[in-house]
Amino acid sequence: MNGRKMRFLMIGAGMSGILAAIKLREAGHDDVIVLEKADQLGGTWRDNRYPGLTCDVPAHAYTYSFAPNPEWSRFFAGADEIRAYFEKVARDHGILPLIRFNREVIDLSWEGGEWRAATGVGEDYVADVVIVASGPLHHPRMPDIEGLESFAGQAMHTARWDDSVALDGKRVGVIGCGSTGVQMVSALADRAARLVHFQRNPQWIMPVVDFAYTDAEREAFRNDPSLVDAIRYDPEYEGNVQRFTMGIIDPDSEAMHAIEELCRVNLEQSVADPVLREQLRPNYRAACKRLIYSPNYYERVQLPAVVVETGGIERIEPAGVRMKDGTLHELDVLALATGFDAQKFIRPTTVRGRDGLTLDEAWEDHASAYMAITIPDFPNMFFLNGPTSPVGNFSLIDVAERQWSFVAALIAELASGACDEISASAEAMAAYDTRRTAAAAGTIFASGCSSWYLDKNGVPMTWPWSYQAFADAMANPVLADMDCRVAARAAA
Ligand code: NAP
Repeated sequence: MNGRKMRFLMIGAGMSGILAAIKLREAGHDDVIVLEKADQLGGTWRDNRYPGLTCDVPAHAYTYSFAPNPEWSRFFAGADEIRAYFEKVARDHGILPLIRFNREVIDLSWEGGEWRAATGVGEDYVADVVIVASGPLHHPRMPDIEGLESFAGQAMHTARWDDSVALDGKRVGVIGCGSTGVQMVSALADRAARLVHFQRNPQWIMPVVDFAYTDAEREAFRNDPSLVDAIRYDPEYEGNVQRFTMGIIDPDSEAMHAIEELCRVNLEQSVADPVLREQLRPNYRAACKRLIYSPNYYERVQLPAVVVETGGIERIEPAGVRMKDGTLHELDVLALATGFDAQKFIRPTTVRGRDGLTLDEAWEDHASAYMAITIPDFPNMFFLNGPTSPVGNFSLIDVAERQWSFVAALIAELASGACDEISASAEAMAAYDTRRTAAAAGTIFASGCSSWYLDKNGVPMTWPWSYQAFADAMANPVLADMDCRVAARAAA
């Protein structure tokens, strides 16, 4: 490492936090600590363990570029092996000893030119640079349904799943039909005695093909890394991703119409019963909500034990779920696949930047960060997968790796002594936010549906330009947009 020696704190030992720790160690920084609120690493893959959880990005693309994994068992990997992958990468790269488990950061304050992180266990950590890697989807949103607490069976949010609860042969209800609800219903359709899928707004489903890799294929992957690369960088997959991005940012494009048509045909051809087909037909455009990729939901939902309920929930009672038309669905287990509060990011941690400015104040109108990385007056604090990060059905690992290039350039400014404190300038932030919100309002995500993408003003909190524009912005940070201050500590 060249230049100033610095202390680094990562908040969160999920995919992004592990990445940051590896990259910092590779760059020669040796004062690196990862604070993790739980007793295991893995972030979203630790918290989510509901039946059927898989990643809808092909496994070889949902992999760090520097740690390919010839062992993936399937095209779309399941949660257990993804969790095991992150554990292995962290172990192989010597990151485990850097992680402080059971350290939830309660307060993070910029004081005297450094960050102080207070944890719930009474320990304070001090750092020159903080990487916020707490993820966008980690605060479960409980549904506001009358009587939920009165349910006599087991009711659980899917991100707080209790593996010990019996499901086979039980009467199970699943509320919510985002990616989570769809995966769970697909997995339980032939296990539950009766499975009720409660859908307030049905979702469009993009058909995909999933398959297992054979032992011979894995052996070939081990012996020839170019075979893994051929899947990871498959031009057809990358072309689809690019087209999907173009469709998102131009809802009237041919690309978006093609996606809509694929989803429509999937529904028409897969669901035989016309009544069920209409129940499952959304009344908004495909990809307005995050598009669901499923190889088998429509097939599974037509199994005899499954009931799709779109009638509207009146309340929850000890015996089950009462619908507005008076029907009672008696249940043993109720899965709440009701999503996440995606506006919080690192909050409820209190974060105080320069002059005591809190993140709540900075984000009073909506959460944002210049290029999704940095906020004015929160010097030396950088987000990975933070607000306005690219979304869509991309590999968030690829996103985080590209964001790291940007963060590394800012860290290099600190290391060289060019700045002691660096964050986006207020002018650059305002210009970015104005440009971004205007563009986001024209994307498919704003075409008339509710979703976790939307901020409280109804504007998608997303990267509204092409994936190539994102890749270019991350590779070429505009340092003139930074508020770079020198020697604040030396002068004090
Ligand atoms: P979500 O997409 O936000 O879906 C929440 C569902 O719960 C919606 O169907 C919503 O209905 C319903 N809901 C919420 N409150 C309700 C209420 N009070 N009464 C009735 N229904 C209610 O959440 P998610 O499915 O957990 O997915 C969130 C994100 O996690 C995904 O978009 C994706 O980014 C990520 N994820 C990824 C994967 C993967 O394979 N990579 C898997 C799972 C999740 P409305 O639509 O009517 O609001």
